[in-house]
Parts: sequence; C-alpha cells; structure tokens
Amino acid sequence: MMQAQLAQAPAMSATPLLAVRDVSVVFGGIIALNGVSFDMQKGHILGLIGPNGAGKTTLFNCLSRLYQPSKGDILLEGESILKRPAHKISEIGIGRTFQNVALFPNLTVRDNVRVGTHARTNSDIISDSLKLPWVRRGEADINRRVDDILTYLDLHSVADTVVAGLPFGTQKRVELARALAAEPKILLLDEPAGGLNHEEVYILGDLIRRIRDDRGVTVLLVEHHMGLVMSIADHVVALNFGKKLAEGTPTQVQNDPEVIKAYLGSKDS
Ligand code: ATP
Repeated sequence: MMQAQLAQAPAMSATPLLAVRDVSVVFGGIIALNGVSFDMQKGHILGLIGPNGAGKTTLFNCLSRLYQPSKGDILLEGESILKRPAHKISEIGIGRTFQNVALFPNLTVRDNVRVGTHARTNSDIISDSLKLPWVRRGEADINRRVDDILTYLDLHSVADTVVAGLPFGTQKRVELARALAAEPKILLLDEPAGGLNHEEVYILGDLIRRIRDDRGVTVLLVEHHMGLVMSIADHVVALNFGKKLAEGTPTQVQNDPEVIKAYLGSKDS
C-alpha cells in the first residue's frame, strides 16, 4: 500500500535545477530584494508574480546576471552562477527574452535566430575564415537547427523578412526562437504577454507549455497576466516589497490571504 502511494507521488529531484538562496539586492537606500529563496524543479514552469515594485524584474535581472546580488547565491545544478558574466550565461544553459523585445531590427528573422545558436558553436575566427571541414559541418548543423526552430514556432513564412516591419506578436515569437536556438536548460521569460491581445496570450500559453513538454525546457515566467500564470504554471512564487510572500501551486497562491491582501492594496488588482 505504502509502495503504491510512493510510486504515485510527483517526481522531485534531490538537487533543484536552479536554487535562489537568500538573495538580496540594494539600490542606494532601497532594498529591492530582501533575502529571497526558492527552488526551481527541472521541467517545471515557475510563475513569479507580485504587485508593481515587488522585485520581480530585479530578481529576473539577477538570474540573467545583469544585476549582482548584494547578498546570497544563485545555483544552477548546484553551481553558483554569480561568477559568470552576463554574456556567458547562455553557454551554461540560461536563455532569456526581454519585456520590450531586443532583436536586431535590420536583420531577417532567420539571421536573428542564427545569432542564438552562437552559444552552442565552438568555432573560432581562423577556422571560420578558412572554412575548415568542421566549420562547414557546423554550419550545416546550425542551418538545420534554425530551420527546425522556425518551423516549430511557425515562423517559416517570414524567415527571410526583416524583423523591423513585423507585428509585435511575431517579433516576440522571433525572440523566443532566438532564445531556444541556444538550447537552454532554463528559459527566463520577462512579461511575454505584455502588448498581446487575448487570443495571442492564449496561443502563447499553449506554446510555452509545448516548449516545456517537447523540449524539456524549464521555464521561469515573470508576468502580470494572472490568467496566463495560473493556467500554465506548476509552481508560483509571489513577491511583495522585495520579500517572498507565498509559494505553492497556482491554487494555493491564489487563495493565500497575504497574496490577496497585497493585490487588493495595489494598482494591479
Ligand atoms: P513592476 O511589476 O512594476 O515591473 P517589479 O516587481 O519588477 O515591478 P522591480 O522593478 O524589481 O519591481 O523593483 C523593485 C524595487 O526596486 C522598486 O522599489 C523599484 O523602485 C526599485 N528599483 C528597481 N530597479 C532600480 C534601480 N535600477 N535603481 C533604483 N531602484 C530600483
């Protein structure tokens, strides 16, 4: 009987994929984050929520190494990421998108996505310019990978279009494609629903879940759109005034009195 119950329990790995440990960030006199800790399990979608000014973006920027915590640590598979410069995080498996889209506007969709593959190539400038055999093999592999991602995200029809003229929703998908091209273990999404209409948000939610299911990518989602977070997250962490207010399943967090109080007292409610 006991064995049957154990077999049904959800699989929890001993070491979380990502561990945020007692992280604090101080800007001048402002404590933007105050001793925040939580774990991210492999294969989960984690929603990070909180009213305006709660510290979500600050934490997101610590995870993507744009900010250095004043205290605490962030561990990826047990190893601190805090010594890695921001431009090296895609090499260790952390990919991100930006709130306002940060693509190369004058490059095509395909070329923007190719940029993402850079973290996974090990060629150098001399081998590249001599077009040595492994460079040619590498290029063929990259082209295949880019094509695969363009098809996966339904971007093939605009593959050779310059990004600048595309609708915002499509540009967001290109950004997602570029992040996926680096084959991340963790994908950090900064308000992906911002600027999207109702139907686009629904499609996005489906897409994020598919990315997790098909590609085994663990996702951290900072998002104001409660409908999206609550419908796709496995685990939710709520912040307020730089501190962790609650964490748990979407239902647990949604019904947490402290979370309700924080949102009722904020402009987000
Ligand atoms: P929003 O939902 O409005 O984006 P947030 O939850 O992302 O809010 P943060 O942007 O992380 O919150 O801000 C947390 C606190 O830190 C706020 O009080 C904010 O004013 C402050 N803050 C954030 N960035 C800086 C900065 N670069 N310099 C000074 N203070 C900052």
